[in-house]
Amino acid sequence: MPKLAPSLLEADYCFLYDQLKIMEKAGADYVHIDVMDGAFVPNLALGMKEIQSIRPVTELVFDVHMMVNEPIRYVRQMKEAGADIITVHLEACEDPQETILAIKETGVKAGIVLKPDTKLSELSEAIISMVDVVQLMTVQPGLAGQKFIPESLNRIKELRDRIDRENPGCEIEVDGNIGVHNVQDVVAAGATVIVSGKALFDGDLGKNISEMKRLIESI
Ligand code: ZN
Repeated sequence: MPKLAPSLLEADYCFLYDQLKIMEKAGADYVHIDVMDGAFVPNLALGMKEIQSIRPVTELVFDVHMMVNEPIRYVRQMKEAGADIITVHLEACEDPQETILAIKETGVKAGIVLKPDTKLSELSEAIISMVDVVQLMTVQPGLAGQKFIPESLNRIKELRDRIDRENPGCEIEVDGNIGVHNVQDVVAAGATVIVSGKALFDGDLGKNISEMKRLIESI
């Protein structure tokens, strides 16, 4: 069953505790935590201290998406802060395989992320065979309020074919402007982890999560 990962990027930090409890109750699978360094992406968001501070209050899986240059520098601290999954950008690592190995050595799951303009052919079979998740950005990373890139559906299908051949247990995660209008399309194309921000946090979070889960599960 595809998993739903509400993105904290759109949360209201005044009410974060309450929102985490609503996510749990409504059936969210992960909390998606975007970490931005102001260099790899033109924005800043969340560090180890913030992640560590919410770790004790929820059992939800912490899916940490590092939009950071050379994320290998922070792998151990992210694990200690409470990450269950760490995903890093192919474009941000001088040695992606070494970075993935460093993540796996800490005992957390590892993933590789591709920006919309990065060709799938740049993702080697060796990397696919090492990771627990391949994440495709369906908008340009780092800026809010962008539109879903329609070509993403073909990329998900193409990646689905490769994952089925090269590492069938690997998840396909999609991240960027996914809501009720397109969630069924991305699941039908082969995505198994759905990141969603604004579509869940605008209005009634609990109801929005339930509705999104219903749409995902009806595919
Ligand atoms: Zn993300």
